Amino acid sequence: MKRVDYIKSVGMPRIIEVSEGARKKTRSSVEALGRSSVLMLTGKHVYKTAGKKTEERLGDLLAKTIFVAKPRVEEVRRIEFDIGFDEIDCVVGVGGGRVLDVAKVVAADIDAPFISIPSTVSHDGLASPVASFKEEGRPVSISTNPPAAVLADITVIRNSPIQLIRSGYGDLISNITAVKDWQLGKDLKDEEYNEVAASMALMPAQLLLREAENLDLKNPYHLELLAKGLVLSGVTISIVGNSRPVSGAEHKFSHALDYLGYGTGLHGEQVAIGTIIIEYLHEKAYGIGDWELIKKSLESIRAPTTAKEIGLAKTQVVEALEYAKKIRKKRYTILEDVDPTREDFEIALEKTRVA
Ligand SMILES: [Zn+2]
Repeated sequence: MKRVDYIKSVGMPRIIEVSEGARKKTRSSVEALGRSSVLMLTGKHVYKTAGKKTEERLGDLLAKTIFVAKPRVEEVRRIEFDIGFDEIDCVVGVGGGRVLDVAKVVAADIDAPFISIPSTVSHDGLASPVASFKEEGRPVSISTNPPAAVLADITVIRNSPIQLIRSGYGDLISNITAVKDWQLGKDLKDEEYNEVAASMALMPAQLLLREAENLDLKNPYHLELLAKGLVLSGVTISIVGNSRPVSGAEHKFSHALDYLGYGTGLHGEQVAIGTIIIEYLHEKAYGIGDWELIKKSLESIRAPTTAKEIGLAKTQVVEALEYAKKIRKKRYTILEDVDPTREDFEIALEKTRVA
């Protein structure tokens, strides 16, 4: 599996707005970046709810709108062919993960700043310098530049499917085990560690974890906290230069599922279930952690906490965990540390009641 170890260029979004009116800043953001010829990439469905309005706001700054169908390299090529001789100097992406991922790569290819306008908050990709593609059924990560601006509009996001928002919660709390794995790397392998990035990843995750019982993901204020947490998570990748603060063994597990072609879970749903299992392994090895709290929090926002809920059999979960041990071994995690056996995994699944 192709993985991103280092991001091409380290930098941070110049403009970040997470609010109920963020979408209205589209034109002023393009102007603030000194640009005047925008390519808007969006999805057919999102166009009706947010894309058309964005076109109107951009007015004469808009050069072209193209609809994105799939997160594939051939789609990037098609769009670049479509741009033709138009002199585009800014890419605005309005949509979910797929649209934003394609927009990031197009923007990097034509060397234009990218403005991210997420229509939902299903994972931390909305502000990260990494695009996730699927090529021949296999997941592929492509490094891009960080977005120049992120405009996360809560009014738009609130109307997106709740399953996507719950998945975003899962991706955010996965930072808890990701940072624990990073600390293992620091303590045992003398790996470089960035306290600011680790705190940026960890604090919003811990806050929402503690508040999960009272969390209402359709409440604008709560949604804003989640969106801010995911934006910060994406930004940590730009600070550190790789995804270490937000991706540990729980992500290896999710990548293993994708690679094996198992299950029906969204990214955040898969990593959340991974987080329960990995937190259990940390707790067992070092006595630090609370997998039950993580599981309970996911239950209270009604996200899946069992393999069955995302279409997985126990044998598939065990196979994915074993496969996860072979992924990106240089990224030191609890899997490399305790080297669990098949039996250890089976016990973990039983104890956590994941499968
Ligand atoms: Zn993730």
